[in-house]
Amino acid sequence: GTDTQTLEFQAEVQQLLNLMIHSVYSNREVFLRELISNASDAIDKLRFEALKQESLFEDDPELKIRVDFDAEQRTVTITDNGIGMDRDDVVENLGTIAHSGTKRFLEQMTGDQQKDAQLIGQFGVGFYSAFVVADKVEVFSRKAGVEPQYGVHWSSEGKGAYTIETIERSQRGTAVVLHLPQEQEEFCDGMRLRHIIRKYSDHISVPIEMPAQSGSAPQQSEEKGAEQGEEEQEQTPQWEVVNRASALWMRPKSEISDEEYKELYKHVAHDFEEPLTWLHNHVEGRQSYVSLLYIPKRPPFDLFEQKPAHGVKLYVRRVFITEDTEHLLPRYLRFVRGVVDSDDLPLNISREMLQHNPMISSIRSASVKRILDRLERMAKNEPQMYAEFWESFGRVLKEGIAEDHGNREKIAKLLRFSSTYEEKETPDVSLDDYIGRMNEGQNKIYYVTAESFNAARNSPHLEVFRRHGIEVLLLPDPVDEWLVAHLNEYEGKQLVSIAKGELDLDQLTGEQAEQEKAQREEKEQAYKDLCSRLQEKLNDKVSEVRVSHRLTDSPACLVVGEYDFGVGMQRLLQAAGH
Ligand code: ADP
Ligand code: MG
Repeated sequence: GTDTQTLEFQAEVQQLLNLMIHSVYSNREVFLRELISNASDAIDKLRFEALKQESLFEDDPELKIRVDFDAEQRTVTITDNGIGMDRDDVVENLGTIAHSGTKRFLEQMTGDQQKDAQLIGQFGVGFYSAFVVADKVEVFSRKAGVEPQYGVHWSSEGKGAYTIETIERSQRGTAVVLHLPQEQEEFCDGMRLRHIIRKYSDHISVPIEMPAQSGSAPQQSEEKGAEQGEEEQEQTPQWEVVNRASALWMRPKSEISDEEYKELYKHVAHDFEEPLTWLHNHVEGRQSYVSLLYIPKRPPFDLFEQKPAHGVKLYVRRVFITEDTEHLLPRYLRFVRGVVDSDDLPLNISREMLQHNPMISSIRSASVKRILDRLERMAKNEPQMYAEFWESFGRVLKEGIAEDHGNREKIAKLLRFSSTYEEKETPDVSLDDYIGRMNEGQNKIYYVTAESFNAARNSPHLEVFRRHGIEVLLLPDPVDEWLVAHLNEYEGKQLVSIAKGELDLDQLTGEQAEQEKAQREEKEQAYKDLCSRLQEKLNDKVSEVRVSHRLTDSPACLVVGEYDFGVGMQRLLQAAGH
């Protein structure tokens, strides 16, 4: 066209492309999964928009994806009649990465190809994975509802720049054409492509069609018939559906294989890795819906960003409505991915209406309960898996102590800490473990917060606890201050900082404790004068000087008043300008 432009990729995109092209991607065939996943998302979006504007279907209402190839030209083409893109969409979507936190994500790159490939996988490079197999990629698209003369053609070799031009395109939706170099010609093969589609994309709920293979009886399509002769097939290409093309989550659990669950996860979560586990429920009763929720293995790159890119997909009677990051689950479960498909919500529900909808809140509280119960069972029966979960998402789950009063006890049960019991840096002590090991007469749960694990376990406040064989939880995580500020007790036992206020060991019984008590009183008498003199000297620096029974080796230590913020919290507040 006359308006051909050559534009540069956003620096971050080019950086990713270089990493992808040069990292030995062990699994090249996933390019097809990603492009089919995008085609399916585009069809979901069209279906949603068409609820309000039926004309968007134009004269092409049978939504489908087609995968074709040309062995001579060495091309593979993925076509959809979904929502399509206009010129601005193409520049925005295929030239930049919109996710917040991309820069920070790229900074984590190590240069170690294997590690980086794994990171890229977590990041979910989607469309750009086309360049893992293709040395040139073309995109032809026309947005639903716009005139044919506003079609676009995008083309790139993945080296710094792409060209874009306006073209005439009557067909709605998008076609992605991959030009394969000789080394990748294995993908220009009907059997191979079918195999890849069945392996990764069988769960896609719209039909995926491929040219019918001559000689093989086609599976399901209505358009073709096995009785048609070879010659006729030559003239008009016959298409056959190669996937199962029904919403996987609607099927009974017993009919779904683990592989199918895993592939659906990769699609809905935009993740290249397998999930840790999933929960699939068909709910009937006051309202009926299906929920299929996944717990990922690893945190997404934007777990601590203000606005996460992905969440749970909401469907109403199989029609995709929105990807929700706020209403279906509380923020402290924002790592959960999956699908909720309601039979009762109105199809015209808008994103804004989700907030106060009673059906949504009942789905939400039931989902929270299911997830917390699942985690509790995992902690009990699959400790290895739970440790993996805790490493990835423990910090986020801790937020739930402050965020979700109603489930505080349940969440507290799931917490894991380091402690002086074994002094392992990997947190694996539960509050129940702690209580189970408490000394006779002990009725408090003791903890110390610090800047690091080593600082915590070397805290001078620990000395007296060590001497008495009392276990202390070691809390080195900045969110721990926040956590203990909201968790005052567990199972009727107060949580007490060993760095705060008066140390109350009087509850300890036994001969040794009695003796020590007498000694303490003696000492307090003996040093009374010294204390009051020090108190005068340090008047403007400390609020009180007293004889300490905490220390065995160190001469003195600073303690924080019982009702003051902990040291870490004070540091946080100071940093924030208080
Ligand atoms: P993601 O799918 O995780 O958003 P991708 O890199 O796979 O990331 O795709 C980037 C964006 O490009 C998509 O979000 C979508 O807006 C757009 N896109 C890609 N493929 C298509 C398509 N076939 N039809 C319409 N839009 C598409
Ligand atoms: Mg994608």
